[in-house]
This record gives sequence, structure tokens and C-alpha cells, in this order.
Amino acid sequence: MSTNIAIIEDEKSLITMLKYNLEKEGFRVTSAETGDDGLKLLKSQIPDLLILDWMLPDFSGIEICRHIKRDTKLKSIPVLMLTARSEEDDKIRGFETGVDDYVTKPFNNKELLLRVKSLLKRAKPSLLEDVAIFKDLKVDRITKKVFRASKEIKLGPTEFKLLNFFIKSPQRVYSREQLLNSVWGENINVEARTVDVHIRRLRKAINIDNKEDLIRTVRSSGYSLDF
Ligand code: CA
Repeated sequence: MSTNIAIIEDEKSLITMLKYNLEKEGFRVTSAETGDDGLKLLKSQIPDLLILDWMLPDFSGIEICRHIKRDTKLKSIPVLMLTARSEEDDKIRGFETGVDDYVTKPFNNKELLLRVKSLLKRAKPSLLEDVAIFKDLKVDRITKKVFRASKEIKLGPTEFKLLNFFIKSPQRVYSREQLLNSVWGENINVEARTVDVHIRRLRKAINIDNKEDLIRTVRSSGYSLDF
């Protein structure tokens, strides 16, 4: 399960270049070319990080950022703003609305990747690590092994992806649709009920030896890794 990065940028060539470089590093990338489409994209599949252009055809990046930070479901998305302007005043205005970091255009790829990685590390320390831990649950991303209180648990590939996805942001509740888009992929025709089936399997697998249930079902909202 890779890290998802969303890009909202109206320059097609820049999207292509960013996608190429980020995918080469193992990131999964989605993109939109307008603020309106961008917000729809974020809602359908909450990314681990957003690369946001300052100047978009419909809204400004600042407006988008303000919207994100006011939305309880979106506000934890770290925002890396791309700007052609280097004026300090604008940057301060951006930071005030919740922009986490900046890259000034034109930028080189190395700089952008460094900024992306350092922002991810700062915002989500568990994301880039080889081993993710929640309570007594341990996911080893290299060997793809899962342990509960040091006891190895065998998971199917989908259950592993689900757990690895949940453990990136424990306690965050995801709808079935968000889980489908993030874990199964956007263009796959799978029914929402399928999510329930795999959640049931995951829950059964990790809740061993009468240990507490680490999967929380939130009625009419979805699921989270919680206790
Ligand atoms: Ca632009």
C-alpha cells in the first residue's frame, strides 16, 4: 500500500512531470486541474498529502486551502503549495490559512521530493516507516507480516492492504467509498458490501485471544482503526 498524493494544478505539463517523478518514488498520484474538481477528488479519496497550485482557473489555492482546513474530514491533509510568487507577504497569508509548506516555481525535482518527504514525515510520522505500530498491533511493510502482541497473524492480501491503510491514520473514520477508492483503486467496479466482507475478515483475524476489538464500526459513516 503506497502513499497517496493528490495534485491540484492547471498546468498539464507540470502534472505530468510531477506524476512521473512521484510515481518513480513509489507514491500513488491522483490529480485535478481545477479547484472544483480538486475538492471532489479530495472528498472521494482522502490523500496523505496535497500538492496545491496557488493560481487555479476557478479558485485560488488559498481559497481551496481555507476550505480544506474548515472541513473536519479534510483538515488533516498536509498541504504543500506551489507558487510562482516568492513574496513573503503571500507566504504568510498562506501559512495563516493552513498551508504547511511551500515550493516556489520553478523548482527542481529533488527539492520537491525533499519537501514532500519531510512534510509527510512531520505530518504523519508512521507513514514512511517500515514498521507501523498501533497499540499491540504491528505491521511490517517490508516483510508484509502482521503481529498482534508479538504473535504473527496471517492476513489475505486485501486485508493486509486495508490494515496498512488504516494504520496510516488511526482513529480516522473512512466511508466504504473512501476505502474502495483508496484500497481497491478508483476504477475498479466493486460493491460497497465487499468492503464489509473484508472488514469482517480483518476484524476476525486481528482480534485474537479475546483481545480488544481494534476495528470500530461507525454507524452510517464507516470504519476506523480504533479501540
Ligand atoms: Ca496555475
